[in-house]
Amino acid sequence: MQPEGMSMGMRGSVTIGGLQFGGGAPVRVESMLKSRLDDTESCFAELEGLSASGCELVRVAFPSADLSERLKVLVSGTKIPIMADIHFNHTLALTAIECGCESIRINPGNMSGRQGLLSVIESAKTNGVVIRIGANGGSLSGKQIDACGGDRAAALVLAVEEQLTPLMESGFDDIIISAKSTSVEETLLANTILSGRYAYPMHIGVTEAGSGLDGTAKSAVGLGILLAQGIGDTMRVSLTGDSRTEVEVAYMIQSALGLRKRRVNLISCPGCGRRRVDVVSLVEMTTEILAEIEARGEKLPEGLDVAVMGCEVNGPKEAAAADIGVAGTQGGYVLFSRGNVIATGEMNDLKAALASCIEEFI
Ligand code: SF4
Repeated sequence: MQPEGMSMGMRGSVTIGGLQFGGGAPVRVESMLKSRLDDTESCFAELEGLSASGCELVRVAFPSADLSERLKVLVSGTKIPIMADIHFNHTLALTAIECGCESIRINPGNMSGRQGLLSVIESAKTNGVVIRIGANGGSLSGKQIDACGGDRAAALVLAVEEQLTPLMESGFDDIIISAKSTSVEETLLANTILSGRYAYPMHIGVTEAGSGLDGTAKSAVGLGILLAQGIGDTMRVSLTGDSRTEVEVAYMIQSALGLRKRRVNLISCPGCGRRRVDVVSLVEMTTEILAEIEARGEKLPEGLDVAVMGCEVNGPKEAAAADIGVAGTQGGYVLFSRGNVIATGEMNDLKAALASCIEEFI
């Protein structure tokens, strides 16, 4: 089943906060507030950081009606659309809509009975609210797993379909679906099946991926494979730690696939026995220059390729497509742009020379 008039392969779309999700729109980047809703100051500080990082939708846990005033203040005080995350209580979903949330995430299976769910659907219809439903590997029941003969990916699909059915039966179409697992393999399988069966926009993520390199690698593999197959309309990289990192990694994954470009694409060689300079220090210097430009509020073109290479023997050739690049030489450095040498010099004037070349692109 899929939205009426939609052929298989064509994705449906929904709009949240004026932003299109699905239907060929750029793959949106989401995060979830780590701050608690009762700490409004921290929530706004986190939202500001997320907004500056390019986050386009923020999910907020809404566990109690006592927090409704806080939710209302948050929704009206930020430009990023808020998705209230609700469990077990349909009245909370109704309250979130009253607070101005344009999207809610619920599990229709635990919405205190069919009547409660129907009232949420009615309110969502009236107020143009998008409902995200979805299953997580961690909350699969033994019954769902048994029904699929122990196949957890199939059980994830079943769990999503169990949540989807009542919405579809009510003629509600403004839906985003998701199936997440800590296992990359299960995430891939479940999302591939769902993508083939339904045209609803899909939220993708590897849940509880971990932290640092471990979580980044898991997310890059899981989400990268899905995105490379055209699966996924909105994504969250789920990492322990600063929520801005989730957004940065999401853009890095999309940038690596050529889907969306943001900011500077820093290319650097790994360094080897031929290197003329310490590549790590050179990358740090370049990052510092870029950060200084950003701190001044100046903008470089999105997707500008900046290359940092350890030697002049292979560097400029390997990074010939870079908009601007630097490589170490025997006595200093060479700066190059799109394969052409534009300056040479000694290491002590490198930072000023490199900064001035990068600033040419502002
Ligand atoms: S650019 Fe030079 S230093 Fe860097 S990996 Fe290649 S050969 Fe080695």
